[in-house]
Amino acid sequence: MTAVTTPAGLRRTLDGSHRKMFIGGAWVDASSGETFESRNPATGALLASVPAGGKADVDRAVAAARAAFEGSWSRYKPYERQVLLLKIADLFEKHWDELSLSDTLDMGMPISRTRGNRNRVVGMLRFYAGLATSIHGETINNSLPGEITSYTRREPVGVVGAIIPWNAPTAASIWKIGPALATGCTIVLKPSEEAPLTPLLIAELMAEAGVPDGVVNVVTGTGKDAGAPLAEHPDVDKIVFTGSTATGQSIVRASAGNLKRVSLELGGKSPVIVCEDADLDRAVPLAAMAVFANSGQICIAGSRLFVARRIHDAFVEKLGSFAAALKIGDGIKPETEIGPLISKRQFERVAGYLEKGASEGARLVTGGQRIEDETLAKGHFVEPTVFAEVTDDMTIAREEIFGPVISAMPFDTLEEAVQRANDTPYGLAAGVFTRDLSSAHRLSNALHAGSVWINTYHAIDPAVPFGGYKSSGYGREGGIEHLHEYLNTKGVFIRLD
Ligand code: NAD
Repeated sequence: MTAVTTPAGLRRTLDGSHRKMFIGGAWVDASSGETFESRNPATGALLASVPAGGKADVDRAVAAARAAFEGSWSRYKPYERQVLLLKIADLFEKHWDELSLSDTLDMGMPISRTRGNRNRVVGMLRFYAGLATSIHGETINNSLPGEITSYTRREPVGVVGAIIPWNAPTAASIWKIGPALATGCTIVLKPSEEAPLTPLLIAELMAEAGVPDGVVNVVTGTGKDAGAPLAEHPDVDKIVFTGSTATGQSIVRASAGNLKRVSLELGGKSPVIVCEDADLDRAVPLAAMAVFANSGQICIAGSRLFVARRIHDAFVEKLGSFAAALKIGDGIKPETEIGPLISKRQFERVAGYLEKGASEGARLVTGGQRIEDETLAKGHFVEPTVFAEVTDDMTIAREEIFGPVISAMPFDTLEEAVQRANDTPYGLAAGVFTRDLSSAHRLSNALHAGSVWINTYHAIDPAVPFGGYKSSGYGREGGIEHLHEYLNTKGVFIRLD
């Protein structure tokens, strides 16, 4: 067992010791007594063992969430929920180093990036705190005979099951917990088995802030043993899921038993269009990091790069040089720009796409190799990769890779670029680089995607709705629309005469 060095002041040494999960305000093991290991994907070091939760544990957690929902939590006033959320936000700010370090160790994201997410995550908590006191219905003038007044009420949906992936555990947890607390729901969070440690740390902060027992529960375990029973559970009112499209489809099927509400943030194969008039010095690094950030393990990765033919070759050459210069290494080092992939399985998946790209005729511009460096040999590192001469029908241009791989393709007209960009089952995000206002508007209107970025990428704000079109899912996170996902609307009629 290799102990991980952690800065002084952290309460978790992540030295391989056992962690428990959080149900009904208590730290507990799985009913089965089984555990699984969480390892650092950069070094292979054992960080902790955690409970392998199963159906019995999901049942316990849902019962605790139901009891809290119907108990004291239901009497919390909006103002009291706001105060709680603000307290949690303060604790997140205070413990940010700990949270960001935990994410870096557990899933490999470079520390510069996990630390840099502070304002976004703390901002989310304060945004939901602000919304907690602005939930309201409407009075509606009806056309009924007699004197009948009508109005709507907004009520919390109840017990929410939240299932998240491994690629951004802190932000993903807060995107589920924040609106649950703001609306008065209770929640059972099932983190990914690949990165369960930060959600457990978040549970500690919830308890420290004074969140009542049972309001926030964290059940660790695999998708099959803990995720599926949560999705099927007859006493869960809503599932909010972030993950792959295939799992999203099985969650929809599992939700049919009690017709629970579902919102889905799924995969993508997002296009980036670089117009002839783009500012290349700006576009090259942004188009590169649209994919290479977090080693390509981002749902919004702009992995299909359409470049105007006249500038295509020069752009691809610059992109290749940029990619080749990125610093690859253990995310714990401040200078690291590209960390490891999460697991051997993900590494093999990405390696399979690299082989497919080459065998289907794409030209490898840069990258494409496993890192042989001795110090990184125990991690799952892949070089940032650029393929050119990719055609729309190649596997690497159609399937989500979730690795650091860009497929570059030339285009001749904007109409053609839009048609090809939209020719995918996904619709999560899109990017455009142009200095022409008219092209910017036309393209952002025409692209079938939940988020469109012009001359930027990755911009996500708590106040702006985020989510997918088509097979990238439905429902929105962020913005006032997000709260509505956690609320039922009730129409009330009162006869006055
Ligand atoms: P995944 O679908 O394999 O797993 C996600 C979560 O679902 C995990 O917690 C897993 O344990 C659980 N799960 C697996 N099978 C389940 C089942 N049958 N029932 C219930 N739960 C189950 O995804 P992943 O590999 O962890 O993450 C990568 C995927 O997530 C990519 O497709 C990526 O695009 C997507 N993603 C989307 C967004 C977004 O906001 N749209 C954000 C991040 C990641």
